[in-house]
Amino acid sequence: MANHNCPKCKQETFTWYVDEEFSSITIWSCSNCDLQIFEDDRDEIYCEKCEDNTKTFLKNEEEEFWWCSICNTTTK
Ligand SMILES: [Zn+2]
Ligand SMILES: [Zn+2]
Repeated sequence: MANHNCPKCKQETFTWYVDEEFSSITIWSCSNCDLQIFEDDRDEIYCEKCEDNTKTFLKNEEEEFWWCSICNTTTK
């Protein structure tokens, strides 16, 4: 599985896995800065840079934001 750019540290160390125990929630985690964040079930939204529906809603206890997995743009 390809690594993505981490929205925090911008390194290419961001990957996801599905946690079967928690009803198939997708968990994103970064091996560089230890960011761990969950993908919300909402639909992906439109990214103006990529001109495609590539933004995913990510949230954890401290923060939440929309993140584009292609161009790495984040919006609150
Ligand atoms: Zn990171
Ligand atoms: Zn984008």
